[in-house]
Amino acid sequence: MTDSTSLGDERAKVGELGREMLAQELTKGTGGNVSVRSDDRFAISPSGVPYEDVTAESVPVVDLDGERLEGDLKPSNETPMHAVIYRERDDVGAIIHTHSPYASTFASLNEPIPASHYLIAYAGTEIPVAGYEPPGTTALGELAMNTMGDNHDAVLLKNHGVITVGTTGADALDVALMVEYCARIHYQAINVGEPAILPDEAVEDLRKMFKTDYGQQ
Ligand code: 13P
Ligand code: ZN
Repeated sequence: MTDSTSLGDERAKVGELGREMLAQELTKGTGGNVSVRSDDRFAISPSGVPYEDVTAESVPVVDLDGERLEGDLKPSNETPMHAVIYRERDDVGAIIHTHSPYASTFASLNEPIPASHYLIAYAGTEIPVAGYEPPGTTALGELAMNTMGDNHDAVLLKNHGVITVGTTGADALDVALMVEYCARIHYQAINVGEPAILPDEAVEDLRKMFKTDYGQQ
């Protein structure tokens, strides 16, 4: 049995990421959820709790089947979706689910976001759309995971929102911000004219550059 202070850093990070998601206008109210993994467990935001009220101690810890191990509050109702992704993707250390407005517009149109801006490379060659399944279901998680695959770090959920993944919480948040930015640019571009779309090979090259060479790494 783990003690009540396990995953302290991950639980604190969940609160921080939730507040940042709200501050960056990637969601409204208690919408969306965030999780941070440590091996075969993950800390995930409690369901329906305002992000400003989320303390490290209040953050539930669950196993990779989504069963609660620690914390008094009920975990996010999207725990099954987070669990499916962690089971399938060993490279993923954090997951962010947003309802960010421009990306959710394309989710409601059931349209992927193509590479009309080079920053899409943070997420993949495009942002695909997973078909509709009800929120909180394992079926939604499986559809999201299968649509995202191993080579994308973001997926739109039809009529709902966005999932992004990263090695760390900071990475997953960066992807969520870039997805929303690219969605906004694409929305503006198609309202003015016909955007030029970058070829997959060019975006793959950028993707490698962001992962291996960009910034101070
Ligand atoms: P939770 O508050 O239970 O995480 O639900 C929010 C949400 O966005 C469901 O899709
Ligand atoms: Zn949601």
